Order: sequence, then structure tokens, then C-alpha cells
Amino acid sequence: MRTRFAVVLLLLMAAPAAMAVQPVLVIHGGAGVVRSSLTPTEEAAARAALVRALEAGHRELAAGRPALDAVTAAITVLEDDPHFNAGKGAVFTHEGKNELDAAVMDGVTRRAGSVAGVQRVRNPALLARTVMEKSGHVMMVGAGAEAFAREQGVELVDPAYFRTEKRWQQLQKALREEAAGQAHTDLETAKHFGTVGAVALDQKGHLAAGTSTGGMTNKRYGRVGDAPIIGAGTYADAGCAVSGTGWGEFYLRTVAAHDICARMAYLNESPQQAGEAVINQVIPQLGGDGGAIVLRADGALAMPFNTEGMYRGWMGADGVAHVAVFAEETLPRPAPQATAEAR
Ligand code: ASP
Repeated sequence: MRTRFAVVLLLLMAAPAAMAVQPVLVIHGGAGVVRSSLTPTEEAAARAALVRALEAGHRELAAGRPALDAVTAAITVLEDDPHFNAGKGAVFTHEGKNELDAAVMDGVTRRAGSVAGVQRVRNPALLARTVMEKSGHVMMVGAGAEAFAREQGVELVDPAYFRTEKRWQQLQKALREEAAGQAHTDLETAKHFGTVGAVALDQKGHLAAGTSTGGMTNKRYGRVGDAPIIGAGTYADAGCAVSGTGWGEFYLRTVAAHDICARMAYLNESPQQAGEAVINQVIPQLGGDGGAIVLRADGALAMPFNTEGMYRGWMGADGVAHVAVFAEETLPRPAPQATAEAR
């Protein structure tokens, strides 16, 4: 009897520690960072924005709110910041417009929402979330998505809001290269850079993912990339969350985000192994490039990429922002936790 009492007491004492999930937030501000096209002031501003995004998302997690709240809070900060190719500061299409794509996904329920080709929505990730929560659909495009935004009270802005001089000049350069025949295909002049994304693990052990982008400079014909396509640029389930950034056509063709999670589930690969396999082997073998952020339900994370740099960072329970831009910078990793299944 006394032994049984002692066992119960021990279990009760151990329970809170075993149950507690240390929240983790991982973000990216896009692969394809080229050192030579970044001034020290721009680099410092982008790093500061990453820290602010981590703080905004972490605040949600620390307050016990769902992973999706952290994802949208972090992405909103980056969409509002002109240094990233999402929301304000998005790249221009061939016709000189900004057409924005975004998606969010909730891991445990596998509910998802996405929008593509919107031109007036200040924060496309928030509209993607509204699609998920307030419609029976997963994906809406163009004018229809904007009509839904208006109905739901999601903030709309004049298209001029998104314009930055730097992005405009990038389009002019791409158009000149195209005219000079320096590229063999439209896609070769369509440079990718600065997409934003977030993946989060909340105190309940639930994961979520989100991605937002202006796509690729000089895109045309209503081109849509991987970011708003569930499974390609954005994916989350109970065990894994991924947001990708890179040459979207290759992420679409390889269903990259889902493939990373599938490798983790079926092959028992770690986030690092699965991320490296898809981002640094499968995609480059086909001719693509880019990066991704990967988070597992035990807080293990990976940030593989194969470009000169990728804006990236993470924040764990201690609230310390870890941020990096270039390939040679290394970041510490969070301590492993018990997985949801183990709890
Ligand atoms: N993946 C995005 C797209 O293809 C671009 C990027 O990540 O920079 O639309």
C-alpha cells in the first residue's frame, strides 16, 4: 500500500515536468541572399526585423496561445517590413505589379488556408488564415480572394503601398537582361529573394506553419509559386512543420515541404536529414535552389539552404533571439525535448 502511494506521488511530481512543452519558433526571411546586393544598413535592418518577428511570435507562445498565432504574428512583422519579399517590399511582376501569395497550416487538425495573386491585401498570411477559419475552402485566388477579404474585414490597401524603389530597380534589371537575351527562359530572369515564413511549436505540443511571398521578380501570366501550395512551400502535421523558400517551380515539382515531413514520418529521418535530402539533394539535382525551415514536435529544428545566405532565426523558451544571414554563420540548436508520443 505504502509503495503504491509512493509510486503515485512520484508520478504526480514527475508529471508537470514531463508534460511541459518548451515552445519554439523558427522563421526565415528568404533564401537567395546575395552579399554584394546588400548594404550594411540593409543587413542590419533585416536582422533587426527578424528579431522583432521572433519576439512577436514568441510573445504568443509564452502566453500559451496556439502555434498558428505565433506563425501569423511573426509573418505579419516581416510582411510589414520593406526588406522582405512579402507584403510591403514584394517583388514586381513583368507588368510592374505586386501579386502576393501566402498560406498557413495547422498541424494537428491539418486545416489550411491559402491565397494567391492578391494585389491589395496588406497581410496575405492573415487572409490565408481567414480562408482557413472562415470559409469552407482551402485556397482562393485574385479578385475572389480580395472580395472575401473585403467581406471579412481583412485590411486592404492601395496597390502602391507595396512598392519600394529597390524592388522596382530589380525588375528593371531583369527586364534589361531579358531584352539582352542573357536569359534563355523567363524563369532565369525571375530571381527569388526574401520570401518569409514561420514554423512554431506551442505549449500544447502543436505545430503550425506559414509562408508569405511576392513570388519571383519578372513573373508573368499569373504565375503562382510554391508558397501558397499546401505541401509544396508550406506544410504542417502533428509531427512536423515546414516553410520553404527558393525557386518555387522546383518546390512544386518535388512537393518539397510535404516530402520533408514524409521522410521524417516514414523513414524516421531527423529534421536535418530530411531537410538536407530534399533541399540540398533532390531540388539541386533538378536544377533548383533555395532553403527551408523544419520543426519537429520535440522542438528539434533544421534550416537547410544552398544559397549564399538565408535570413533565418529561432527562439526557444528562454526568449533569446538567434538570428543569422550568411552560410558561414552557425546558430546554436534548442535542447531536445520529449516528443508528444513519448509524453
Ligand atoms: N518560393 C518563392 C516563389 O517561388 C520565392 C522565394 O522563396 O523567394 O514564389
